[in-house]
Amino acid sequence: MIDPIHVIGAGLAGSECAWQLAERGIPVRLYEMKPARRTPAQTADYFAELVCSNSFRSDNPNNAVGLLHEELRRLGSLIFRLAQEHRVPAGDALAVDRDLFGQAVEAALRGHPNIQVIGQEVAQIPPSGTVVVATGPLTSDALAGELAARTGRERLAFYDAIAPIVADESIDRDKVFAASRWGKGDGDDYLNCPMDKPQYTAFVEALLAAEPLPLQDFEKDVHYFQGCQPIEVIAASGPKSLRFGPMKPTGLDDPRTGRWPYAVVQLRAENRHKTAWNLVGFQTKMRQADQRRVLGMIPGLENAEFLRYGSVHRNTFLDSPRLLQADMALRHEPRLHFAGQITGVEGYVESTASGLWVGLALAAARAGCELPLPPPTTALGALLHHVLNAEAPAFQPSNVHFGLFTPLEPEPGVRKLGKSDRKSAHSQRARGDLGVWRAACPLAIQPVDNPVDNPASDVNSIASPPAEIGDP
Ligand SMILES: Cc1cc2nc3c(=O)[nH]c(=O)nc-3n(C[C@H](O)[C@H](O)[C@H](O)COP(=O)(O)OP(=O)(O)OC[C@H]3O[C@@H](n4cnc5c(N)ncnc54)[C@H](O)[C@@H]3O)c2cc1C
Repeated sequence: MIDPIHVIGAGLAGSECAWQLAERGIPVRLYEMKPARRTPAQTADYFAELVCSNSFRSDNPNNAVGLLHEELRRLGSLIFRLAQEHRVPAGDALAVDRDLFGQAVEAALRGHPNIQVIGQEVAQIPPSGTVVVATGPLTSDALAGELAARTGRERLAFYDAIAPIVADESIDRDKVFAASRWGKGDGDDYLNCPMDKPQYTAFVEALLAAEPLPLQDFEKDVHYFQGCQPIEVIAASGPKSLRFGPMKPTGLDDPRTGRWPYAVVQLRAENRHKTAWNLVGFQTKMRQADQRRVLGMIPGLENAEFLRYGSVHRNTFLDSPRLLQADMALRHEPRLHFAGQITGVEGYVESTASGLWVGLALAAARAGCELPLPPPTTALGALLHHVLNAEAPAFQPSNVHFGLFTPLEPEPGVRKLGKSDRKSAHSQRARGDLGVWRAACPLAIQPVDNPVDNPASDVNSIASPPAEIGDP
């Protein structure tokens, strides 16, 4: 008899993971606390509930998230097959009828001969066997307590504090200067956007006038940790607060004046290739349009391309770079795996991708093959590499964006690519590389009977994405 795998949580990640395992002949016990108990964000009882928007965002494979859609389809994702079946018109976005979609996911899982659904809240990790925890950003308190005990309390966060990230090419280098505070570290670890007093005053006024996103009921009694406060909350505590906080200019000589500016916004490299820069300490709850407008007042960022917007949410997630190995298991307890938002991916699509990866990795292990991570030139690989290897001192969740990908090699003699050519070059390279990666462990990757998903067609499909992509 084959040992079952326990999957806890039938959200997007747990549903996808359970399906991938079951399709490969592995028995699954899938635990879901609904309908007895819901998280504060849930309003329905079916599996894979989309708790807010009904959109999986852009389906255009020249966007990082649309490319991840395409990769998930090629890898036989249940969630993306059913999303396609229950699609509603939404321009280039993949939006669904959320009720029909969630009901279809639940029916597929309940109808699978290898899946046993157990309707109960898991408060303690099953004492033996392989376990996948996919309980999401609002993991129930009892289980969160148990996880904190297993990982170390300081390794499990309950709120994120996400600072925006901008693309390197979009920063006006004539206005910023490279320097580390007090000359420590490498001189170009940080880029500094200097402000004079009138610029700072105008910036603070704009920040205070911007409308923050409304808080969810369960977020209303938030007491932010010092260092994780949204910039607008810091600004509201006094006109000079930002200047004494994240916009502190001390120790930063502007080479053009030889003096410290009045205030500084520091940008820290988000990856070793320095293709993306993080606005240090600039977590915010401003709406995205306000982020573009207000943060666009920062000298050097007038035309910034935002790879990721800032946010602050209630979000249970692990310090994954310090805890997890490639199959998303705890390094110190390798039978205990994690999938979905709890690993530090952000969003419906990314959580689905994480669940699919853990399903494939576990199926590969059962088939006696160690599946390498997809390369960081693919959307799936770039996302997983962020979770496992993010270099920032305090790990924060991320959605998928091109700043996470291995940079494109410049072709000798070819002029630097524009934004749209760069995106399509990323997509083309990812298509080829995913195909090569899929050959690594065919046993784990190909049991799904999916005619458009023939690895032999991967190489040939480089020039033409599958027909459904981009089809509104
Ligand atoms: C308020 C809110 C709004 C959001 N809006 C969006 C959005 O618009 N777009 C977007 O892309 N992302 C959004 N997100 C993020 C989104 O929730 C996640 O990206 C995605 O749902 C995470 O998938 P998951 O499978 O990891 O977790 P979930 O989808 O949350 O699934 C976890 C499942 O585990 C179950 N569970 C929890 N604890 C236990 C337990 N102890 N025992 C058994 N079962 C348990 C839950 O009932 C749930 O079904 C939002 C998140 C929140 C909190």
